[in-house]
Amino acid sequence: VNSPADWQTELSSAFRDTHSLAQFLGQEIDNDVRYPLLITKKYAQLIKDNGVDGVLARQFLPTQSENSEKGFIDPIGDKKFSKTSQLIHRYHNRALLIPTTTCPILCRYCFRKNELNSDGPFAQDQEATLNYLQTHPEIEEIIFTGGDPFILTDNKISQWLHALASIDHIKFIRFHSRVPVILPSRMTLELKNMLTSFVDRFQIIIVIHSNHVSEWSPEAIQSLRNFQSENLIFLSQSVLLKGINDNQKTLKELFHFFVQNKIRPYYLHHPDQVKGAEHFELSLEEGRRIWAGMHDLIPGWMLPQYTIDIPHGHGKTQAFNPESIEFSGSFLDRKGRKVPVDK
Ligand SMILES: *Cc1c(COP(=O)(O)O)cnc(C)c1O
Ligand code: SF4
Repeated sequence: VNSPADWQTELSSAFRDTHSLAQFLGQEIDNDVRYPLLITKKYAQLIKDNGVDGVLARQFLPTQSENSEKGFIDPIGDKKFSKTSQLIHRYHNRALLIPTTTCPILCRYCFRKNELNSDGPFAQDQEATLNYLQTHPEIEEIIFTGGDPFILTDNKISQWLHALASIDHIKFIRFHSRVPVILPSRMTLELKNMLTSFVDRFQIIIVIHSNHVSEWSPEAIQSLRNFQSENLIFLSQSVLLKGINDNQKTLKELFHFFVQNKIRPYYLHHPDQVKGAEHFELSLEEGRRIWAGMHDLIPGWMLPQYTIDIPHGHGKTQAFNPESIEFSGSFLDRKGRKVPVDK
């Protein structure tokens, strides 16, 4: 049984420097990478077991490729739709809330890697955030993202939910989290009980971020299964990443895994053009070639939506184009206008 103290200890004793991690893994790790490092000891063991060049090592160990200057600091235009320092309102009826910039691990491909864990734009300003939400009755859903919202204490999460519960037009609460995969000890019975105590007020949805079946330890699978309840909806989101899951076999295994563990496939994101993660990118043509055959391999209900965030804040749209694998250079935005994207 997971107790609240376990996960906090695990997180506070995590590796944060290349030297001690390299020693633990018994392998060299690139030095002088400009982005910080964070891996818990337990997860470092899983990375080690998965091999020095495995899909875990490549997602989580820093490499010199991250020092490339190419790409954007804010690839999806978060800033353009910032309403308070921790609220992003891009779509009419839902808003992203960033209650923390801390994560259970630092993913090297992260789309917010230039904005998190610095003095970044996401300062805490709960009062202004609640004020904005109160005066925007069109907002029906709050999406807790980050950072990782499950890194907050139960008290902090509960405090947010209580505050949101007093705003009548908010009906849905969504959490986007990598915690169930990376820090399973955090999926405590106390957290489950606290969340389910709100289900008469909100529908609660938990979107789990996972890109590969190998990310899941037996402990993570067990903790998730213990956490699940018929009152909570579980969805998946994955990022299509070069050298990690950019083939049909790996994706099929991943989507099978989700369904077998009561997680409904929701999104497969085409990678964003983020500064420091260019080495994970593949072209839209390559992504579409992979996607074109997926429906042959698995039924429609098991397929997530393959989507892309149009660079610079135009929002999400379908990445697959049934008429052509080639990318014309333009996307249709939410109003149906063509948006040319210079690559
Ligand atoms: C992706 C995103 C959402 C969530 O979009 P859904 O399609 O509802 O999952 C909400 N707000 C912003 C700013 C986003 O980037
Ligand atoms: S958990 Fe999410 S926000 Fe945190 S580093 Fe990974 S991709 Fe980025």
